[in-house]
Amino acid sequence: MTILQRARSGLLDAVRAGDAWWWFLLGGTPLLIAGAWLGPAAQEAAYAVLAALAGAGVLTGLAVHRPARTTGWWLVAAAMTCGSASSAAWSLAFLDGSPPGGLTVVDAVYFAMYLLVAAALAAVASRGASALAGMVEAGVVACTAIVLGWVFLIDPFVNDNGGWTSGSTAVAYPLLDLFILTMAVRLAVAAGGLTRTHVLMLLAVATMVASDIVYFVSVSSGGAWSGPGVSVSGWMLFYLLLGAAALHPSMAARTADRSGQEVRSSRRVTALYTALVAIGPLATAYACRRDLRAGDFDLADVALPLAATAATAVLLVIRLSHTSALVNRRAAELEQSLAEQAVLQERMSHLALHDALTGLPNRLHVERSLDEALRRPDPGTLLMIDLDGFQQVNDSFGHPTGDALLQAVAGRLTEAVGAEGVLARLGGDEFAVLLPGVGHAEAAAAVQELLAALRRPVAVLGHRLHVTASIGVRNLASASGSAEVLSDADMALNAAKRAGRDRAEAYDVRLRESQLRRIATVERLRGAIGTGDIVVHYQPIVSLTTGRFTAVEALVRWCPPGAAPIMPDDFIPAAEDSGLIVPLGEQVLRDACRDAAGWHARYGIGVTVNVSPRQLAEPHFAAKVRAALSDSGLPAAALILEITEGMLIGAGPHARQSIAHLADLRHDGVRVAVDDFGTGYSSLAYLRDLPIDILKIDRSFMPAGDDAGEQVALVRTIVGLAHDLRLATVAEGVETLEQAAVLQTLGCDKGQGWHYGRPAPADRTTALFAGEELQPVTASRESLAHRRS
Ligand code: C2E
Ligand code: CA
Ligand code: CA
Repeated sequence: MTILQRARSGLLDAVRAGDAWWWFLLGGTPLLIAGAWLGPAAQEAAYAVLAALAGAGVLTGLAVHRPARTTGWWLVAAAMTCGSASSAAWSLAFLDGSPPGGLTVVDAVYFAMYLLVAAALAAVASRGASALAGMVEAGVVACTAIVLGWVFLIDPFVNDNGGWTSGSTAVAYPLLDLFILTMAVRLAVAAGGLTRTHVLMLLAVATMVASDIVYFVSVSSGGAWSGPGVSVSGWMLFYLLLGAAALHPSMAARTADRSGQEVRSSRRVTALYTALVAIGPLATAYACRRDLRAGDFDLADVALPLAATAATAVLLVIRLSHTSALVNRRAAELEQSLAEQAVLQERMSHLALHDALTGLPNRLHVERSLDEALRRPDPGTLLMIDLDGFQQVNDSFGHPTGDALLQAVAGRLTEAVGAEGVLARLGGDEFAVLLPGVGHAEAAAAVQELLAALRRPVAVLGHRLHVTASIGVRNLASASGSAEVLSDADMALNAAKRAGRDRAEAYDVRLRESQLRRIATVERLRGAIGTGDIVVHYQPIVSLTTGRFTAVEALVRWCPPGAAPIMPDDFIPAAEDSGLIVPLGEQVLRDACRDAAGWHARYGIGVTVNVSPRQLAEPHFAAKVRAALSDSGLPAAALILEITEGMLIGAGPHARQSIAHLADLRHDGVRVAVDDFGTGYSSLAYLRDLPIDILKIDRSFMPAGDDAGEQVALVRTIVGLAHDLRLATVAEGVETLEQAAVLQTLGCDKGQGWHYGRPAPADRTTALFAGEELQPVTASRESLAHRRS
């Protein structure tokens, strides 16, 4: 690196560091002080050097600080070039001994510097949208400056002295200063907060104007051509300050955009305007008085100030009308945006109270409507509607179909509810209908209408779906708040679901009581699991061809100490709901495998265990079954799992997981039976594809009473179909010898029921098998039935 390069990079670093402007000022100060005593040639040479340095400062500032807007600075650079060039020319002329006289090209170049500085200030202060306002303000300042310039400079020193005779150009400077001053004032007023650079520029302008005035006064009073030392130092300071302004880091700072603040009413601006408006007449009055006293008053003395004052008034009117136009525009804009805001507000409140999918009112809306209805003497009825098996539609056909179904259902409900009721979607597949002023009887009719409307098949996205709904009914007469009503209706809805779906259930205090009982039951059951209070009973299953016991069904009993045994129908639903069925079912499975292992070893008896959907959906179900088998020593082939049809239907994650577990276990030799067959979906077509081995024909099909003939036909069909699909059949609920005989002729494989034996504890079941060993089974059947009943 050469010394020059090193110096350059050192210089740039100093500028970047941000204190170069200060060194620039400090470095120029000695010259500034010495300037006053220099001879004319040296003075001009000093100006030339300072102007060139200031120009270099501008270029350096531009290179280092990289301002976004550069026009103003290029104008400053151009001004400095003009200043430097003309001063250099004068310096040479002085050295030649031929001081300039009259107006020369060099003078013109020097005047150009003033105009360029004025233009630079205008560019720096440019305000975009409010440029016009800025120019008008500048015009007001200019007019006032003209008045002052005339009254205090031109009139006394030039006009009243009988014209300009010295041949000096001194008079031109104050006039040119008018432009600079005007733009400077505009910058001071316009820029959104003055930066350090702005302040330095304004100081430069102030120094320049002051020096020019001093010079003008001095020359017009017959002073030296080059002017007094004070003005010499002032001009030098002008260059130094401009250079420093360019070197200051804030030269790149963006002036705050004030385009949004054209309508200003700050006290500062008001005071400035007032002063500007007052100066014209005051100064003119002063000039009149002065010239009248001196006795040389003529109209020309005040013509210019009066014209300038009039111009100020005109400019102010323009400025005011501009402002008022702006205010009007703002007012119109404000009005428009208020209107838009009102529309938006309405849309938002609609969104907040409506459901996006169906466009129906949402839960919040219903809550409000409910609160309103409850304040009336005749509040009406709330229905809460939930689709049955909606999850399966979602799982099997996908969410788009589910959404389309919800929209179709919303349409149907809207039709059925009519204009009097408020239909809302509470979320998911849950809807609510508020029927204001509707009493018990009317509500019951409306409910039946809704159930019927939903039963009709719905065509969505190419599927024909059969949906039904469960409805909870809450009469509002005795209710106090919307939250209570919604929770009561929900309770009634759950009761309708439990009661078998596709029906309605009305809220009743007993529902709440039974819910409390359920909660208490769940808590007690939680404590019973894993203790001896959970007992497994076994009911024999008999081969209809040989008449021998082939298996037992494990049926759980809850025997709290000191109380009557509780039957599964009274606690299995609560166990399912609460998830307790998972540990409970595991206990039954392990006990059943343990008990059956001995029976299987001695009598070849198998065991069938009921499995709930919750258990089968567990990720580790198959592993738990395998563990129960290996811990008990029972072979897989001796275990049958009983499931219900619904568990394997659909394509949802639960059905898939369940099918995977069963396929896995069947691989080991475990068999699967479909329990209560004929009561659920009963679509025989799907049976072929499922991992099952046995159909247990529900006991409601047992031939009895008047429609025995019909029942027999149904059982014959089921048995035939099952055999076609290579599935074994077990008839449940065989209570009489006649039924057993009919089943035998229909070709049913096995039977289970009171006719063969009631569920009994393990020890009695052991005794039963031991007894059968001694006596032929066929003979023991009747005696057993008698013993158990
Ligand atoms: P299920 O699986 O259909 O069991 C047969 C039910 O019918 C048993 O009632 C049984 O006592 C009864 N039953 C047997 N023979 C006859 C008959 O000839 N006539 C009549 N009317 N009924 C007969 P239980 O033991 O009260 O069980 C009720 C239900 O509880 C069972 O129905 C089963 O779904 C469920 N359950 C029982 N134990 C368990 C268990 O360990 N786990 C699970 N998940 N569910 C179980
Ligand atoms: Ca069963
Ligand atoms: Ca059954």
